[in-house]
Amino acid sequence: MDTFAEMQTWGHEQVLFSHEPSCGYFGIIAIHDTTLGPALGGTRVWQYESTEAAIRDVLRLARGMTYKSAVAGLNLGGGKAVIIADPKRADRESLFRAHGRFVETLGGRYITAEDVGTSPTDMEFVKRETKHVAGLLNLSGDPSPVTGYGVYVGMKAAAKAKWGKDSLAGRTIAVQGAGKVAYYLMTHLKEEGARLVVADIDQEKVQRVVDELGATAVAPDAIYDVEADIFAPCALGGIINDDTIGRLKVEVVAGGANNQLGEMRHGREIEARGILYAPDYVINGGGVINVYGELQGWTMQRAKRKAQEIYDTILRVFSIAERDGIPSFEAADRLAEERIKSVAALKDMWVAGDR
Ligand code: NAD
Repeated sequence: MDTFAEMQTWGHEQVLFSHEPSCGYFGIIAIHDTTLGPALGGTRVWQYESTEAAIRDVLRLARGMTYKSAVAGLNLGGGKAVIIADPKRADRESLFRAHGRFVETLGGRYITAEDVGTSPTDMEFVKRETKHVAGLLNLSGDPSPVTGYGVYVGMKAAAKAKWGKDSLAGRTIAVQGAGKVAYYLMTHLKEEGARLVVADIDQEKVQRVVDELGATAVAPDAIYDVEADIFAPCALGGIINDDTIGRLKVEVVAGGANNQLGEMRHGREIEARGILYAPDYVINGGGVINVYGELQGWTMQRAKRKAQEIYDTILRVFSIAERDGIPSFEAADRLAEERIKSVAALKDMWVAGDR
């Protein structure tokens, strides 16, 4: 892979590498676009099979963050970090302090947080070396309540676009996953009077929502065949694919999981079947809103109020899709690009004391 060619194709600003021999730290930070603000995105720890695989992943993830924050209306750019290591490694302090020193060298151009393979405790080690870190213990903490709430309001917007009214009372929602995001989503759905059908590979989690929220359980693979109004993927990525699309008996797909489309073409295929798709990174933006709130010193209530805007954003995405005759996942990209372009086009004004 030619890294510069990839950066040129996808518009990345900067890619940095760092090595700390004392603890065998190998880290990469990718900054995609800082037009709207400092690049924010979590740190992923993964045992990549090669440096090239790690670069590919960090480039893709950093770009995704630019789009997610742009459509969420935040003053943030997109970036991401990866550490090439076993996510279960025991010597967390040295690893994450080395990472913190690396983040600090960027002076705030990149702000890190948790991702796959990292926890708030790891971020506390990062914090010893840099202030450019969020997702800390006793601050905004677990983003799932805000993410779940954002998915709920985004689902209501999708209902409004599909059926003309946004009430979910009496609607049947098939939820894949009964983890953190799914749980909070389902509490709101239950409160509104929706019927819940749920599947998870973890039986304890399923039992909790059956007991607490009156959900009906189905086997993990059966969730795609449930006759329902809405399918809410809240577990894995890539679940809208050649094997599942033909099985879906729903009119809307709206859920919290990242990267729901197996490939881009599945976003077109699902719409060709008359199923309205609420793009994943728009509807699950509550997580990044929560982290942004931590940086701004917001309460969870304020973060939730910001997450309410996901309702209007989802409707805007659908109207751009209609305006331009494109599928909704492309319309989401267009909305993000339009915001970045319009901010970039603002005329620079000379201010006394400037440069
Ligand atoms: P989680 O680990 O709490 O929940 C995921 C659940 O999916 C687990 O209960 C797991 O057992 C279940 N699962 C795994 N494989 C499954 C399968 N084949 N069938 C059914 N269930 C299966 O994670 P989470 O934080 O709730 O995140 C869920 C999704 O939302 C992920 O895709 C995540 O990237 C995305 N997301 C989360 C947040 C957040 O704030 N937590 C924000 C944005 C996006």
